Amino acid sequence: MEEIIKKAEILIDALPYIRNFYGKTFVVKYGGAAQTQDDLKESFAKDIVMLNFIGIRTVIVHGGGPRISATMQKMGKKPEFVHGQRVTDRETMEIVEMVLGGLVNKEIVALINKTGGKAVGLSGKDGGLIAARKKMVRKITPETGVSEIVDMGLVGEVTAVAPAVIGSLQRDGFIPVISPIGAGPNGETLNINADLVAAAIAGALEAEKLILLTDVPGLLDKKGSVMSTLTKARINRLIKNGTITGGMLPKVSACLEAVSAGVSKTHIVDGRIPHCLLLEIFTKEGVGTEIVG
Ligand code: ADP
Ligand code: MG
Repeated sequence: MEEIIKKAEILIDALPYIRNFYGKTFVVKYGGAAQTQDDLKESFAKDIVMLNFIGIRTVIVHGGGPRISATMQKMGKKPEFVHGQRVTDRETMEIVEMVLGGLVNKEIVALINKTGGKAVGLSGKDGGLIAARKKMVRKITPETGVSEIVDMGLVGEVTAVAPAVIGSLQRDGFIPVISPIGAGPNGETLNINADLVAAAIAGALEAEKLILLTDVPGLLDKKGSVMSTLTKARINRLIKNGTITGGMLPKVSACLEAVSAGVSKTHIVDGRIPHCLLLEIFTKEGVGTEIVG
């Protein structure tokens, strides 16, 4: 008996959060181990389905870099990166679109549907969701300090989001699953960092939360300890002194952009922890780093 009363208490503990978040939108960037390990995939899908049944509207934006690289290698192409971003020639872009928009997107859709949700896959091209332009990247050679502008090919940055298609799906209870591909001004296909796509969508939807799943415990300081809350000023110092680098740079930009677009809370969360989404949303402690404006 005591056991089952405890279960009721656990559910009741979630009540204030459920009341607060009912009907609100959470945008989740799905990637890393949570996207590749079977047990974590299942716990992610259960969390998403659970959130939707208690009235939280989730929107998923996914990555899939390792799958793109693996497919490129199978096709005899060598993946190339500048500051963590993939150099994307036309042939690479075709592979990106096939792997992300096809394989990876539909796997996530099937996973959620199998778990009892109703997911629909989209790319940023569908319904004109993501308008983008070609992005130029400044490459700095650390040894010499020399910087140059590098043409990354079909790498894009978001210029506008038309979220109507998301609203249409949500009205009928569907969970949108979005691959980070946008259309340029002449209809060309552009490959965009998924963290930044998630942030732009969260901003356009005036989401309550942006949650980025990753494979580290959160934003780490120089000693490797998680920093649980960070402000813009502190982040700028951490970038200058080289504490935040590589793939963490688009994540902090994503969070700051989302906050300035009106998203209430942004989190970088350890996706290797089973049910990290539920823990982040329904516990005081949370798991990872919260970034405030
Ligand atoms: P994801 O697939 O989640 O986008 P990325 O590799 O793009 O992962 O970004 C996360 C990586 O950022 C970490 O694995 C780590 O190597 C790097 N990183 C750089 N600076 C930090 C930092 N201060 N704290 C945590 N991770 C950092
Ligand atoms: Mg990344």
